[in-house]
Amino acid sequence: MTDVLVLGSGVAGLTAARTAAEAGLSVTVLTKGELAASATRYAQGGVAAALSPSDSPELHFSDTLSAGGGLCDPEAVRVLVGEGPTRLRELMALGAAFDRAGDGSPGAPLALAREGGHSLARVVHAGGDATGHEVERALVVATAGHPGVTVQEGWLALSLYVEDGRVAGAVGVASHSAAPVVMKARHVVLACGGAGQLYSVTTNPALSTGDGVAMALAAGAAVADIEFMQFHPTALHHPVMPRPLLSEALRGEGAVLRDEQGVAFMAAEHPLADLAPRDVVSRAIARRLVDRGLDHLWLDATSIEDFPKRFPTIWAHCRDAGLDPTREWLPVAPAAHYHCGGVVTDVDGAASLPGLWACGEVACTGIHGANRLASNSLLEGLVFGHRVGAAIAAGRTGPEPTGAMRGVPLDEPPAPGGALSPQTPLSPPVDNSQHVAGLRDRLQRDMTTFAGVLRDGDGLARAAASVAGIEAAANPESADGQGGPEPRALAELHSLLAVGRAVVLAAIERHESRGCHHRLDFPEPHQPLERIVHFGLARRVRVPAATAVSERER
Ligand SMILES: Cc1cc2nc3c(=O)[nH]c(=O)nc-3n(C[C@H](O)[C@H](O)[C@H](O)COP(=O)(O)OP(=O)(O)OC[C@H]3O[C@@H](n4cnc5c(N)ncnc54)[C@H](O)[C@@H]3O)c2cc1C
Repeated sequence: MTDVLVLGSGVAGLTAARTAAEAGLSVTVLTKGELAASATRYAQGGVAAALSPSDSPELHFSDTLSAGGGLCDPEAVRVLVGEGPTRLRELMALGAAFDRAGDGSPGAPLALAREGGHSLARVVHAGGDATGHEVERALVVATAGHPGVTVQEGWLALSLYVEDGRVAGAVGVASHSAAPVVMKARHVVLACGGAGQLYSVTTNPALSTGDGVAMALAAGAAVADIEFMQFHPTALHHPVMPRPLLSEALRGEGAVLRDEQGVAFMAAEHPLADLAPRDVVSRAIARRLVDRGLDHLWLDATSIEDFPKRFPTIWAHCRDAGLDPTREWLPVAPAAHYHCGGVVTDVDGAASLPGLWACGEVACTGIHGANRLASNSLLEGLVFGHRVGAAIAAGRTGPEPTGAMRGVPLDEPPAPGGALSPQTPLSPPVDNSQHVAGLRDRLQRDMTTFAGVLRDGDGLARAAASVAGIEAAANPESADGQGGPEPRALAELHSLLAVGRAVVLAAIERHESRGCHHRLDFPEPHQPLERIVHFGLARRVRVPAATAVSERER
């Protein structure tokens, strides 16, 4: 039995694994693709941290709270902005090379970029716009080479293994087998990333199917803020999936959004104009697309000097699409990008079930509230991945009432199961890969149309009906029995359905607009500051957010 079983190998999982192993624990990292396969690898813009003399954790704190629409947990944000610079320096000591200003020599100061919602330039980046690649590279080398870490690549975790009320392992299946295996562990860390694949237009890779949240829901763990799916306003409007991202850093360097008549419209929408928080920019674009019957607007980046050098990844994506950003405007539209909510944790990453921990995009620590501030998520993975590893090593068991866990009723008995369960594929049904792919496609389309950037009661009811219909069609009996078994695709579909159902139910219940949840029928943020907390698939409660603290700390 391993001490710590980490599910996922992005920035959060690898950081947790390495920290626990450094403290002398035995760690197994189980990941469904290759070790380096993750959304982390796709991150472009960078990592936000108060490193420059003109910056401070205080300023970073208030920018994060402003973006979060009143639902950030101030204590968790303090942890993020306070510990962020140390974790970033540790990452550099491990070998991650970030871009330098001036002549770019290793002794020069770090080059800092400004992104939406930040009041100054504080985002460090690597390889111009290939930050995630460098972060993942450095962590893979440091973790895979650690003698305390065993890596299991190509293993899909299907469900949590619960013994006597404690999470004591996970059930997984190897890529070469259809036979699930129980892997026992003293602690399980969910680090499975986000769920952008719920939507048909997303920047997330195919692996971002919400498996961690689905496993937590099936085990009865608390999950919150799940209705807050952040849409990135400027994905390249081009058929390739995942959609290439045109990072906010472009707007930080002077790029401007324009409508179909060439009008730069953001100045009329927000005091920060093109650098307004993402939810504001996404809605401004989405409204114009709906009102004018368009499928994209334009990003004018022609004023950026040295484009190919400063943004080599974006340059390559544009060239692949036959576009020259130095001469022509780029077609853009919003795409599902980041899941702000997830598995509720305290500030050390402990989830509501003993033995279960969560960090990174799968978690809801309270730092993002209703809307994530740009470039806070790689930082989150570093800070909270480290805290999880350290808390386990320190012998912590069970959650404390801190961060998003504050006020969550831990005496609520878990409500595991429900109609959906990722355990369903344990006896792989005979199904047909086309059937499963078709259902995934239908779910993505309906979530995009009815539970996307702009929502209303009628649309959300249609989304709920669609999820229910696809659940029924995903039952093995509904498949036509053609072709071979596809337990992996089916397991991912079940994860997407569980997360999709939770997103829709919470969005229906939230009769207001806040952060990245926008209801056309309730356009104002008028509800009390509460989190909607799911206990499994069957029960939801409302928990007051830490507003008193937030008012004082503002
Ligand atoms: C295009 C793009 C650009 C971005 N740019 C930035 C940026 O500039 N700055 C920033 O801060 N953030 C950015 N983000 C967001 C950021 O990259 C992610 O939020 C962050 O990397 C998530 O890290 P993670 O470790 O939580 O999850 P991931 O990096 O997604 O890793 C999840 C891991 O879990 C594994 N996994 C999933 N399910 C299972 C399962 N069932 N069994 C086993 N393994 C499983 C996956 O294979 C993967 O290894 C960007 C995201 C995208 C998509």
